Order: sequence, then structure tokens, then C-alpha cells
Amino acid sequence: MTTRHAACNCGQLHLTIEGEPVRISMCHCLECQRRTGAVMSNQARFRRDQITIAGKDTAWKRTAESGNAITFHFCPTCGSTVYWEGEGFPGYVAVAIGNFADPHFPAPTLAVWEESRHPWISLPPETPQKHFAKQG
Ligand SMILES: [Zn+2]
Ligand SMILES: [Zn+2]
Repeated sequence: MTTRHAACNCGQLHLTIEGEPVRISMCHCLECQRRTGAVMSNQARFRRDQITIAGKDTAWKRTAESGNAITFHFCPTCGSTVYWEGEGFPGYVAVAIGNFADPHFPAPTLAVWEESRHPWISLPPETPQKHFAKQG
């Protein structure tokens, strides 16, 4: 089974993940743009039981457009958001793909919040593109 590691920038918040993600997506919503400081968010969703979490995190909860709460977990030292959990996907955890620091991580297969995509970003061919989606 594949074992992957995701970590914050300073390395103290660290995830060990067994097996493959159930979903890999990119989100162009403005909330994700503010959270990441980048023009989109990329995340892989795993079952909670695939993940072992080590280190300290600070949690911040917001209500998504769908009305579901999402709780983001970021490193209190370096500020990197490593993972989040949402009422819209109970039992699963979304992990920011950049935190794997692995250019060979599989590509997203779904894009959401297309209406706020920066127009200069082109998506891989065949990527399904959705406008408002209830789960990012
Ligand atoms: Zn850190
Ligand atoms: Zn988003």
C-alpha cells in the first residue's frame, strides 16, 4: 500500500497517510483563494482512518456557502493549512496537495467554483468543471 506524508512548512504538523485518496479536486472559490494566498486550492480527500496526525494544530471553523461548517487545521508556528474536515463530508479529511511536496501526486479530476477561476488558469483536458458545488 502507498504511504504518503504531508507536512506544514516548518514540519511539526505531519500526516502519514496509507492508501489512495477517494477524490482529488481543485477549488477556485474566493474563500480558498484567501485561505491559501494562491489563486486556487488543490486537495485530496481520504477516509479519516487512513490518516495518522502528529504535531500541534490550530483549528478555524467557517460556514461554507452550502451552510455546512468546515474546520481548517493549520500549524500555529508557520501558518500552513494542512488539512480540513467538513460537515458535508463526514468521516473524510481533505489534505492540501501542496503539503505533500510531491510533483508526482495524481492530478485533480474535478474542478469546482469555476465562476471565480482566474481566466489565465487552464485546466488539464477532460477535467469536469462545475459551477457552485456544495462540497469543495
Ligand atoms: Zn509548521
Ligand atoms: Zn474553495
